[in-house]
Amino acid sequence: MSNGIVFLVGAGPGDPGLLTVKGARLLEHAEVVVYDYLANPELLGYCPPTAEVIYVGKKAADHTMSQDQISALLVEKAKAGKRVVRLKGGDPFVFGRGGEECEALAAASIPFEVVPGITAAIGGPAYAGIPVTHRDFNSSFTVITGHEKEEGSGARAQGTGEEIDWAVVAKLPCVAFYMGVKSLPSICSRLIENGKDPATPAAAIRWGTRPEQRTVTGTIADLPQKVAAAGLTAPAITIVGKVVTLRDTMNWFERRPLFARTVIVTRTRQQASDLSKKLAALGARVLEAPTIELQAPADWNTVDQALASAASYDWLVFTSANGVSFTRQRLLTLAKDARIFARAKVAAIGDATAKAITDQLCLKVDLCPQSFVAEALADELEKRNEVNGRRFLLLRADIARPLLRDRLRQAGAAEVNDVPIYETKPARNLPPAVLEALDHGEVAWVTFTSSSTAKNFATLLGPTYREKLRNTKLASIGPITTATLNELGLPPTVEATTFNIVGLITAMHHP
Ligand code: SAH
Repeated sequence: MSNGIVFLVGAGPGDPGLLTVKGARLLEHAEVVVYDYLANPELLGYCPPTAEVIYVGKKAADHTMSQDQISALLVEKAKAGKRVVRLKGGDPFVFGRGGEECEALAAASIPFEVVPGITAAIGGPAYAGIPVTHRDFNSSFTVITGHEKEEGSGARAQGTGEEIDWAVVAKLPCVAFYMGVKSLPSICSRLIENGKDPATPAAAIRWGTRPEQRTVTGTIADLPQKVAAAGLTAPAITIVGKVVTLRDTMNWFERRPLFARTVIVTRTRQQASDLSKKLAALGARVLEAPTIELQAPADWNTVDQALASAASYDWLVFTSANGVSFTRQRLLTLAKDARIFARAKVAAIGDATAKAITDQLCLKVDLCPQSFVAEALADELEKRNEVNGRRFLLLRADIARPLLRDRLRQAGAAEVNDVPIYETKPARNLPPAVLEALDHGEVAWVTFTSSSTAKNFATLLGPTYREKLRNTKLASIGPITTATLNELGLPPTVEATTFNIVGLITAMHHP
């Protein structure tokens, strides 16, 4: 007997945060992942790099694997002894054909488990500010499939031949229709023909819970026409009932400050996620444009010599969180730890750098100037009379500005050892999604967090970069980056007053 097993995992409606903890754990240990159109591909980030990832569902016109083929694939992979995760949009058993897949697995005597997910008819309305039940309005909530065949996903009409009894449905206080965009006109007219008040509130929610979420509201009399006018297409949930009116007070998701704005985040590959996460939390659709790749120095000699004489320094200076993590890595490799710096005081530029020093090296930061630039650090050290005769070790990027080194030397430092602890190399090209969004004029903001990312981004866009960014707002993290942007002919729309990620986001908020 093989150890093969299949887990049917609900991916939730789209927001990757709506996957269950159990689903995430299973993805982390999956050997094969079979997913479709409605499951957010971001969730594949949980999979080990070795997992075999198979996409089986596409939109309407494209070729799709048939349901039988999908079931056969699950059986085949499990028979080969694999731990298979079948990742399905929403909940696997709500119009998701999970039942058929389980039947096929059972028939082949393959063990399986089911992990429910948040279904679109609950998650979508929640993110549109519509509670599906409310004491004042309804004590039941019904889900119905509109029996469309517009999106593959192995989630089409159930083919039961079961007729919807519209006289009954018209009496229900709150109904959500899946797969109902194309048939929306007929759904609404059936309801009205069967005695439902034409003024009954209704909403259609497309790509609910995703940054692309769009909601159209109206009544069952005018919703079909409004949906058509708005160009709203599948996948969408339609919800009919008085609870829709609660959206006026409860529409939290679409009211967030950056909702529906596309923001390009230019950063190093390693660093992008913190800024991206914060922007996404404010509602932005974030596209990451890594412009720089960080790598270990080609030769560790200089670093290792500096670390070997760590005890001779009075000050240890970090100017980026990356410098800290490369230092940590090197110490681990050399089987050393932060005690080698015991004699030195520690200085940081930027609160993220300071946090990295405490978190990663377990060192207390003695000096982190209010203003996160090298000038401020040099000023502060001089003010404290901490430069003359002192020895400094700077662990920084190969492309760090010479200013700090020069200032310390001019002020009489006994030694300034400016050691590149990591190297930066420009990325070769931008992700296609970034270029497309710019071409289509979809981008509201581009964020710049360093001079080098600004320069590299312009280079990657090519000679017409100014033209490409003409209708896009630009956000700069601070004066040095702004100076570079100005040199590039790209004056920023806003500049952060506190030179860090939070400052940058605040500036974008209140341009
Ligand atoms: N198993 C899924 C439903 C699959 S049927 C679930 O539990 O949610 C496919 C239909 O689900 C789509 O036609 C659409 O009506 C609905 N749907 C799925 N994801 C959606 C989303 N993010 N926003 C709106 N509707 C969605």
